[in-house]
Amino acid sequence: MVRRHLLPRGLTDRRVLAAMASVPREHFVPPELMDRAYADLPLPIPRRQTISQPYIVALMTFEAGLGRNSRVLEVGTGTGYHTAVLAKIAFHVWSVERLEDLSNSAERRLKELGVDNVTLIVGDGALGHPGAAPYDAIVVTAASPAAPQPLLAQLAGYGRLVIPVGDRIEQMLRIYQNTTHEIRQWTAGPCRFVPLVSPVAFDAEV
Ligand code: SAH
Repeated sequence: MVRRHLLPRGLTDRRVLAAMASVPREHFVPPELMDRAYADLPLPIPRRQTISQPYIVALMTFEAGLGRNSRVLEVGTGTGYHTAVLAKIAFHVWSVERLEDLSNSAERRLKELGVDNVTLIVGDGALGHPGAAPYDAIVVTAASPAAPQPLLAQLAGYGRLVIPVGDRIEQMLRIYQNTTHEIRQWTAGPCRFVPLVSPVAFDAEV
């Protein structure tokens, strides 16, 4: 996966590639889709959600600018795959998921892999997780029409928010960095995520 899908697309960050190489994606993919675990595709998971495409997981992790001491908030635990990748690099990852059954399965998978520097929370991640704020990076793995204010407010100095911003169909991966004078912003490319379901983003539909 690293050699075929990540390096050729310009992802060369050693820490990100090492993390991607060390987390077995097949552990997070539904058994009937196992043969596609290392293809560069998002795949369906229970509750009409998806496990993200490896390239996008790697790109978001790179843009989060993580180091060994980073405290990270993830919004949208899903299968826990991206949580595991972030946890390989960072000091600790807090991950919020609104669907309790997905959070429980993710917790089991992460335990089975021995990933112990994560805390999973069930709730509306668009509100962040004030209890452990501020964060050096916040990675949102569901799409929002704009960057939710509570997440911007929970960034540490020079912390980065990585989030797909757009409508329900397509989005741009946006990065917001909290510098001393302003919120610096840039775009890392197009992407496609399921909606962030929250009164501060898209209203609940399921
Ligand atoms: N990162 C995941 C993919 C997540 S798919 C992985 O690697 O498997 C997006 C997830 O965001 C879904 O599980 C969905 O239930 C969750 N989600 C949507 N809105 C949310 C919200 N407001 N708070 C927390 N989680 C949310």
